[in-house]
Amino acid sequence: MASKRDQAILKCTECGEHNYYTTRNKKTHPNKMEIKKFCSRCGKMTVHKEGK
Ligand SMILES: [Zn+2]
Repeated sequence: MASKRDQAILKCTECGEHNYYTTRNKKTHPNKMEIKKFCSRCGKMTVHKEGK
């Protein structure tokens, strides 16, 4: 199968909402990402973690 980019979902750690899709480079980011992003459900900036 043709190489498909590794997609990950960024989930809000406070409400669990799936807010962002991202593509991740395993070579540069071997660990799970934690990014502060705006969550529309929480209405504020929260930490988002990579999930499936
Ligand atoms: Zn949230």
